[in-house]
Amino acid sequence: MKSRAVLLKNTVTTPPYASSDAWEIVEVDLAAPGKTEVLVRIEAAGICHSDLSVMNGTRPRPYPIVLGHESAGIVAHVGSEVHNLKVGDHVTSIFLPSCGACSTCQAGVPANCSVAAAVNARGEMMEGGSRISLDGQPISHYNGVSCFSEYAVMDERSLVKIPEEIPFDLAALFGCALLTGIGAVRNSALTKPGQSVAVWGLGGVGLSAILGAVIAQASPIIAIDPIEFKRHLALSLGADIALDPSENLRDHLSQGVEVAIEAVGRASSLKAAYEATARGGVTVTVGLPPASEQLSISALSLVVDVKTIKGSYVGSANPRVDIPEYVKLWSEGKLPVERLLSLAHPMSKVGEAMDLLDSAQVVRQVIHPHAL
Ligand SMILES: [Zn+2]
Ligand SMILES: [Zn+2]
Repeated sequence: MKSRAVLLKNTVTTPPYASSDAWEIVEVDLAAPGKTEVLVRIEAAGICHSDLSVMNGTRPRPYPIVLGHESAGIVAHVGSEVHNLKVGDHVTSIFLPSCGACSTCQAGVPANCSVAAAVNARGEMMEGGSRISLDGQPISHYNGVSCFSEYAVMDERSLVKIPEEIPFDLAALFGCALLTGIGAVRNSALTKPGQSVAVWGLGGVGLSAILGAVIAQASPIIAIDPIEFKRHLALSLGADIALDPSENLRDHLSQGVEVAIEAVGRASSLKAAYEATARGGVTVTVGLPPASEQLSISALSLVVDVKTIKGSYVGSANPRVDIPEYVKLWSEGKLPVERLLSLAHPMSKVGEAMDLLDSAQVVRQVIHPHAL
């Protein structure tokens, strides 16, 4: 079938993104879903910094590629061996499927599935190859989702069923921003009530980490970002203190912070987060720095200050357990996801949306693939 999609032909070397000819909206061909695959009518697709990183080449992927890895939609067709979803189900996508068979999947940590990570890096589907093509030439999938498109073929293992009452614009945010941010605080740092938490970088993931810290009953919660409106938003979401990165966290918390979450994606902010981490504390990094950056810290302090540095991907989550729990918290009014949503655009405005994200003037935006 045909589907209008955002096709990224090559990296955007000179922003603005809106006027770049490296991408265009075209009608791609979608193959029928394979045995374990599902055709999804995409209703909303979130715009995440990772999409921008693929667009500008900071995080290269096999091009040409259809971007988008955070979505919500309706199941339109299912393969012969799909058992947990049916036509008409509302779903949200997750950007790292899990093979279910490797040692980490067997151990209950699908976020560490190395099989799926390798499949994602190749731009393929779990069952191999691509289901997207243009003029007979295969197009790469982005993290098995590729939701900047009217329709997408995804593996069943990339989808989680959600209740119909949650609006698609909000549901789209559960699979990346919320899973990653809340998961960093709860699953990766194992934050306990009363522990101090600081978050560097207040984008969709960082503000989700603030929400995670509130749910975890952390205290105090410190939000750090150079953009004033984001600091105000963090305070209204439950942060106790908001700082510009130029300020010293230890002026407010002399012993340092017990849980430091780095969500900027720069080695320099990871270093700042590490240095602000209290003795015996943990520094968790979820941002994706450019591949060229190296981290330089005091080797001695790691030992004598008994610190831990931890990488966290997909919030160390088990999405099939965590997403339903977050949806339940949202329905109880305890997870104000709508506060993270800045703007919704038709798909034709994806370039303008990327420019807004690049200028750090928005938190989360969604695009509507069926809107003109
Ligand atoms: Zn993302
Ligand atoms: Zn696996």
